[in-house]
Amino acid sequence: MKHVVTQSDLREADIRPVKLLSAFMELSIKDSHLFFDKPGELVEVDCPACGCPRRRPAFAKHGFQYCQCEACGSVYVSPRPSAARLTEYYRESSAVAYRASTFIQTTGEARRTYILQLHANWLARLFDETRGPRGDRYADVGTNYPLIFDEISKLGIFRRLASVAPLKGLESACQARGAEVVEAPPADLDALTAFEQLEHTFSPGEFIARVHQALVPGGMLFLTTRSINGFDLQVLWDKTPYIYVPEHLNLLSVDGISRLLERIGFEVIELSTPGVLDVELVRQAMAHDPTIEPHPFFKQLLAACPRQAQEDFQEFLQKHRLSSHLRLAAVKK
Ligand SMILES: [Zn+2]
Repeated sequence: MKHVVTQSDLREADIRPVKLLSAFMELSIKDSHLFFDKPGELVEVDCPACGCPRRRPAFAKHGFQYCQCEACGSVYVSPRPSAARLTEYYRESSAVAYRASTFIQTTGEARRTYILQLHANWLARLFDETRGPRGDRYADVGTNYPLIFDEISKLGIFRRLASVAPLKGLESACQARGAEVVEAPPADLDALTAFEQLEHTFSPGEFIARVHQALVPGGMLFLTTRSINGFDLQVLWDKTPYIYVPEHLNLLSVDGISRLLERIGFEVIELSTPGVLDVELVRQAMAHDPTIEPHPFFKQLLAACPRQAQEDFQEFLQKHRLSSHLRLAAVKK
């Protein structure tokens, strides 16, 4: 299995402008209380990665309990809002409307430069290396950035593009870029991308199974998600300011996500954590929250060591799959 380290001059401020992100987060937390305030409507779940029922409490966030799986180490919310309530939330909440109208419009171009082009090139390279299927049909699930279709079109691999259940408010932007907007993954897909979807999906298992069904044999899945094994989450844990319900129901471990994909019938051909922001995110969280007390070693690394040491450390995290930004490519067996 491949394991890739990438370097880029990605700047946190470009793709995650602090003011906009804080506004989105505050709206999300407020809306989560409006939509998910009845304990009777919350659903207990077993580990969304490996299915193990054994778990221990991890931490509480804004009234929701995060648990850690005793088998694979994934961290997840249980009890959690039902699938039906989550659908309502994504259709009606003001946080989602804000995200589509403001946040994504503002950060779209920076994302195109730093992330979407990387995603498209990654897909093209692996599609080519594995001699992927005939290259006819591509879909992106839960499209957050319609510009991805521009980048995928430029590759000249696929004839037909689809956006499956894009973020509400982005439908026409997807259509304007040649993507058909559909509610469920169409059949006979050659490649499918799901960027930052698993973390807020009610059931990652059902999600991956649907994707598996939609792909042709040999079809390829490309996904990114946030992993609990990452440095920033491990250091900040319950004080991670940017983890909240309903955007982060599942923080799967490297082990857990591998088991999930293999169980459903994928061969994982790449699993990397090419994140570049862990160290920066911990530093920012510490600057805003004086109650965060990381281990003295990390305090020293972040406060007293030269910038080069921090960059080298981030590279170490990438190399050893210890960044929280995880990307995975898999082939349908
Ligand atoms: Zn598990």
